[in-house]
Amino acid sequence: MQRRRRESLAVQSGELKVGAGHAYGVWATYPLLGTKSEHLKDLLEWLRRLKTDEPRPDLIFLQAPRDAEFSSLEKLRCELEASFPELHLGLVSGKAEWLRQALETWHAARLEAGPETSTKEIQELASLAQARNKILELRFTSLPALQDHLPFLKSLPSLSLSLESSEPIGDYRRLVSRLAAEGIRHPLHLSVAARHFQDLILEAASSLGSLLMDGIGDSIEVSGVSLEEATRLPFNALQACRLRISKAEFIACPSCGRTLFDLQETTQRIKTKTQHLKGVKIAIMGCIVNGPGEMADADFGYVGGGPGRIHLYVGKECVQKNIPSEIADEKLIELIKKHDRWVEPPAA
Ligand code: SF4
Repeated sequence: MQRRRRESLAVQSGELKVGAGHAYGVWATYPLLGTKSEHLKDLLEWLRRLKTDEPRPDLIFLQAPRDAEFSSLEKLRCELEASFPELHLGLVSGKAEWLRQALETWHAARLEAGPETSTKEIQELASLAQARNKILELRFTSLPALQDHLPFLKSLPSLSLSLESSEPIGDYRRLVSRLAAEGIRHPLHLSVAARHFQDLILEAASSLGSLLMDGIGDSIEVSGVSLEEATRLPFNALQACRLRISKAEFIACPSCGRTLFDLQETTQRIKTKTQHLKGVKIAIMGCIVNGPGEMADADFGYVGGGPGRIHLYVGKECVQKNIPSEIADEKLIELIKKHDRWVEPPAA
């Protein structure tokens, strides 16, 4: 069970709101290798491939190359917005001057604060972000670097804080306790870097899951991975913690000697037909002996009633018995429609 969510202030850009109990945000960062149109190719292709019901990050940051001109970055923003006007775009840089300009036209700016960053620059950016109603994120290279600024951060208007950390669980927990001691309520952006591809799911699940279940974090991000993974992993972590539901949820029993149908194949088939139903929870259980008791809080249940026969449930109530398995998927969908939980899948 999630501990009480840390109380934080809100930051916002237009209708995009983070902190203060607003929906957990999923952010992603796209590193630009240059500032020509061709450097947006992968991002544009990915956005075009996304189906309308697939989640996309709430905020996409473009990481500016060091030697770029700000005017070139502006052109890229315009190009992206011309194709995808609904996107919220942010700029990442260590140069405060660029970010001052970005706060005029972009939705967000992330300052990579380094030893050369002055408190005056941070103060100016925070005031500008507040005046322009934009999101400013301050990214520190380590927990000690952020802690050095704590007394000063307290005086700033609301902004998002994040850390580069190889030990995010311990570092963010320590940060939260320091912020609480200072009475600082800036929202926190949890940034987790994938270090080893084979451990990616484990890393994201353990780091993000642990912190989220501690009530820590207002927005999340997995960096160092493809855009697909950078979107899929945070949304899955939020879904698993039941903090932001972006697709249907399925519970299947582990199967045993009592299982009355091919559990894997049936689960996969039902998933294919219903996974677009955001927020609907479907249980697929192999038998009626233990299945109904193990469906937890599923909205609908598909349970083996006998050889070639299926019982359908709404919540814990069995509403249709002994349906021939050949038509059981159809009957399940009819039931979902009858309870106003169905929407048509998006066109492929
Ligand atoms: S629900 Fe039935 S089939 Fe599935 S694991 Fe439990 S006892 Fe076995």
